[in-house]
Amino acid sequence: MSLDQVAGRFAYNEDHEAFRQTVRSFLAKEGVPRADQWEKDRLVPKSFWQQAGAVGMLCPTVPEAYGGLGLDFGYNAVVDEEMAYAGVPAGFSLQSDIVAGYMEHYGSEEQKREWLPKMVSGDVITAIAMTEPGTGSDLQSIRTTARKDGNHYVINGSKTYITNGQNTDLTLVVAKTDPDAQPAWKGMSIILVESDREGFGKGRKLDKIGQDAADTSELFFEDVRVPITNCLGEEGMGFVYLMSQLPQERLSIAVSVMASCQKAFDDTVAFTKERKAFKGYVFDFQNTKFVLADLKAKLQVGWAHLDWAIQRHLRGELTNEEGAAAKLWHTDLQWEVMDKCLQLHGGAGYMNEYPIARMWRGARVSRIYGGTNEIMKEVISRKL
Ligand SMILES: Cc1cc2nc3c(=O)[nH]c(=O)nc-3n(C[C@H](O)[C@H](O)[C@H](O)COP(=O)(O)OP(=O)(O)OC[C@H]3O[C@@H](n4cnc5c(N)ncnc54)[C@H](O)[C@@H]3O)c2cc1C
Repeated sequence: MSLDQVAGRFAYNEDHEAFRQTVRSFLAKEGVPRADQWEKDRLVPKSFWQQAGAVGMLCPTVPEAYGGLGLDFGYNAVVDEEMAYAGVPAGFSLQSDIVAGYMEHYGSEEQKREWLPKMVSGDVITAIAMTEPGTGSDLQSIRTTARKDGNHYVINGSKTYITNGQNTDLTLVVAKTDPDAQPAWKGMSIILVESDREGFGKGRKLDKIGQDAADTSELFFEDVRVPITNCLGEEGMGFVYLMSQLPQERLSIAVSVMASCQKAFDDTVAFTKERKAFKGYVFDFQNTKFVLADLKAKLQVGWAHLDWAIQRHLRGELTNEEGAAAKLWHTDLQWEVMDKCLQLHGGAGYMNEYPIARMWRGARVSRIYGGTNEIMKEVISRKL
């Protein structure tokens, strides 16, 4: 089974689909056989990032002048879908769909030349650090500061739940350059922090209930000095930049999530057709067929909506509210799909050796990160 069986998709052209085959073959050879080990190690090695970079899977939108392929977001989405369907856990989407966008849009010429080629090749792994122990949804209440001292910033504070936190070579740190600014968002900036800066520390790899291979971590900043040229774009514009990139960030989550729904569904159809019970197969029960039929109908709606959203984004039309709605709806669907599919697996569904168990655990965070689904409803309702 593969995503090719999803009928009537309209988000992609032939070139996207050709790229999909390259991605799929690469993952089947280099990713799938090692995924279990990475889950045990709770880390994806940097060497896999470099291998993926070599086949063009990292940051496809980066212009050729900065070592990239200069393609559209559709290529990012193809990578996201194939990785989710194959169950290969690496934080590529954070680098390709989120960090690369900030760097491309707001980075100085010098920053772009320095970082983008290495992000494309996988020689540099990035993270974005907004959340702190004391605040997540309420981003304007962050306490990490970057105070000016001559031609340097001195950064103090701590961040938590940071994806790629162990592997990161370069972190985009959201900090207050003017802690007294009113309203608070006017005092927020995004500062680039290289991992070899004195005073920068990586905390423990956090012990999560799912997505084990994702190296989610705490990060610490103790009088970390970086030159003022490490500010991304203009000082005081950080919050505005963050808000403007949200549609893509949220769409990216919806894309991965939808592919994982399809994978759970396909696995469950196959499982129930093989699993015997009461002189027949689990699939033969009317309950099983009705649950699967109901999910099939929802998947049909989901793919149509996702393609609509991808196309709107490719045309630059996807609004903040539409991105939020996509994240909300697809992640809610994911939870329903995972839970119902796990149930149809019976006890096997609770065993980590079955992919559905890992998918179910991994899915729980989708309604939390990238902005919680309650915040998505806030965002949508503000424009009603
Ligand atoms: C695996 C994982 C990876 C992550 N990766 C990153 C990363 O790379 N970088 C990063 O910066 N962060 C990351 N995060 C953090 C994530 O974005 C936050 O956890 C999320 O935004 C929620 O913030 P919080 O945990 O502080 O929850 P809180 O903000 O404390 O929310 C607690 C509850 O209150 C609700 N709530 C809060 N405000 C409102 C409101 N106004 N109306 C209604 N309900 C509300 C929430 O919806 C939630 O149910 C990650 C988190 C996880 C779990």
